Amino acid sequence: CGIVGYVGLRETPGRELYALDYVLEGLRRLEYRGYDSAGVAVVADGAVDCRKKAGKVSSLDAELAANPLPDAVLGIGHTRWATHGGPTDVNAHPHVIDHGRLAVVHNGIIENFAELKNELTGKGYTFESETDTEVAGTLVADYYNKDAGRDLTEAVRLASQRLEGAFTLLAIHADHPDRIVAARYNSPLVIGLGKDENFLGSDVSGFIQHTKQAVEMDNNQIVTITATDYSIIDFDGNPVSGKPFEVTWDA
Ligand code: GLU
Repeated sequence: CGIVGYVGLRETPGRELYALDYVLEGLRRLEYRGYDSAGVAVVADGAVDCRKKAGKVSSLDAELAANPLPDAVLGIGHTRWATHGGPTDVNAHPHVIDHGRLAVVHNGIIENFAELKNELTGKGYTFESETDTEVAGTLVADYYNKDAGRDLTEAVRLASQRLEGAFTLLAIHADHPDRIVAARYNSPLVIGLGKDENFLGSDVSGFIQHTKQAVEMDNNQIVTITATDYSIIDFDGNPVSGKPFEVTWDA
């Protein structure tokens, strides 16, 4: 339902908040959309780490207080409106896949998830949740592991070509502690541009308190953001430019 992504540079003077603070703040600002579960994941110390809970962002806060995540410069967050699988902790996003190497969050519905799940089960993959999202993430993991170049953007692109329905999908990987890759098809995704920090949001509410400089993406596009840069390609791999705009309303 709501998605937030953040990547910054730890060494920026004067910045006291780290990724998780930005992500949780963004999730709270997206609460108005309604949701049944919430979760966050970071890449830190060469691993993906995740906390997620059925219920409100305040339940997630309590979980994080009991089991803190490590400090990180990069994080993703999600509020879920369940479509495939009930509103449980296990079905909440992020879904951590590939032995803790990859995490995804997703808004929307993958129409062909049953067929893809069969295909992936046949290859030996197992699933913890009942969600269409975990299937999409496992498809990304499968392409990633096949690719000797280990390019997360390329894995998300190849997976996106096979997904039907509607999706805003964000992926982070333990091998890439500096970037978030996000795909958009029939579901909203906006990039927020800061100074030595960049944001992703299902709408600008996810980051508007930090920057008014935004970039609109079209359907069939993938963006890779780092703290200092972003680049967009289409699902065929061609570089494209997004549409920059300035958010004119106040946070
Ligand atoms: N279809 C996904 C699920 O049920 C995502 C739902 C959403 O957009 O929050 O987990």
